Amino acid sequence: MDFSEYKGIYVIGALVDGRIQKVTGELTGEARQLADALKETVNVVLIGEKLSDSADSLIPLGADHVYVLTHRLLSHYDGKAYQQVLARFLKEKKPDTVIFAATPFGRDLAPRTAAELVCGVTADVTELSADQEKRLVIWSRPAMDGNIMADIVSPLYRPQVGTVRPGIFKYPEADDSRRGTVEEVPVSLSSDDLGTILKSIIRGEKDENPVETAKIIVAGGRGFHNREEWERVHELADLLGAAVGCSRPVSELGWEPHSRQIGQTGKGVSPRVYIALGISGAMQHMCAVNADIVIAVNKDAKAPIMEMADYAVVADLKEFMPLLIEKIKEWKAEKQA
Ligand SMILES: Cc1cc2nc3c(=O)[nH]c(=O)nc-3n(C[C@H](O)[C@H](O)[C@H](O)COP(=O)(O)OP(=O)(O)OC[C@H]3O[C@@H](n4cnc5c(N)ncnc54)[C@H](O)[C@@H]3O)c2cc1C
Repeated sequence: MDFSEYKGIYVIGALVDGRIQKVTGELTGEARQLADALKETVNVVLIGEKLSDSADSLIPLGADHVYVLTHRLLSHYDGKAYQQVLARFLKEKKPDTVIFAATPFGRDLAPRTAAELVCGVTADVTELSADQEKRLVIWSRPAMDGNIMADIVSPLYRPQVGTVRPGIFKYPEADDSRRGTVEEVPVSLSSDDLGTILKSIIRGEKDENPVETAKIIVAGGRGFHNREEWERVHELADLLGAAVGCSRPVSELGWEPHSRQIGQTGKGVSPRVYIALGISGAMQHMCAVNADIVIAVNKDAKAPIMEMADYAVVADLKEFMPLLIEKIKEWKAEKQA
C-alpha cells in the first residue's frame, strides 16, 4: 500500500436538525493539534439534509477545508445511505486519518464506512496523540474492563480510523484569523438507497443542565449511603449553578438517570471544575473526565482519586456536606448584603 497517496485528517461531523453538533467542534480542535504534529490538513465533512449553522464557523476552530454533503434524503440518519455517500467521498479523497464522534450514529457509521474502505476502527477513544517519526495517530482507550489504557496504532493500512468519545476534549478557542474553504459536494441518492423507513420521531425529555456542557460538575459516588444523603449533591449543585453527575453504582441504584453517569460506559465531560464526592477514582470513571481543576472529598486519604485531585479533602461526607452547604449559603448571603 502506497501511504504517500493518503493525505489529510478528516473529521466526520454530523448535523442534527440542520445544526452542527458540539462534538464536531471538539474533534476539529483535536484534529488541528494532530495535523500540526503530522503536517497534515484538517478537513471536516458535514452530512445531513440542510445546514442551518454556517459551515465556515468550523474554520476558526481549526478546519482548513469543510465539505458539505447535503441531500433531502439525508434528513435523518440512515446507516445505508450515509455509508454510501461518505464511503464514495472518502474513496475519492484518500484520507490519511478519519475521526468519527462516538455518538450512536458515529458508532454505526464508522465500522460501516471502514468496511468499505477495507481498514480497521479503534472504537471509543479517549485520548489522541501523534507519533511524528512513524507518522501514526495513537488512539488511546480503556481496555481489559477499563483496568489499563491501550495505545492502538494502524501501521499497515490507510486510512487510520477511530471513533472518539464526545465531551472529553475541550471545545477549541476560535481563532478568527484562520483561513479555509467551504465546498458543497453534489450528492446523488434515490429512495432505493435508504435502509430504513422513518415513521415517527419520539424525542426524550430535554436535560436542562446536561453534564456534557457544564462548566462545573458536582459528581457523587458510593460514598453516599442512602437517597437522603444523596439529595445533598443536588443542594450543593444548585448553590453552585453546577450540573449533577455520578459514578456507575449511583446510576445503577436508580438515584440518577444513566444520562448523568460519567465514565467509560457513561458520558465524557470537560468542565472547568469537577467536584468528586465519595468517588474512588476508578479508571473507568476518570478516563472520561478532562477537567481543569479536580476537587475530591473522600474519607480515605489513600483513595486513587486523591492522587488525581488538585484539591483533596479528607473528610466524612455525612459531616462535610451539611457544613459546606451552610458555609456557601452564608457566603452567598454576605455577598448579596
Ligand atoms: C467495563 C466497565 C465499565 C465501567 N464503566 C463505568 C463508568 O462509566 N462510570 C463509572 O463511574 N464506573 C464505571 N465502572 C465501574 C468502576 O470500575 C467503579 O466500580 C466505579 O466507578 C466505582 O464507583 P464509586 O467510586 O462511586 O464507588 P467505590 O469504588 O465504592 O468508591 C466509593 C468511595 O467513597 C469513599 N467513601 C465511602 N464512604 C464515605 C464517606 N462517608 N465520606 C467520604 N467518602 C466516603 C470511599 O473511600 C471510596 O473511595 C465500569 C466498570 C467496568 C468493568
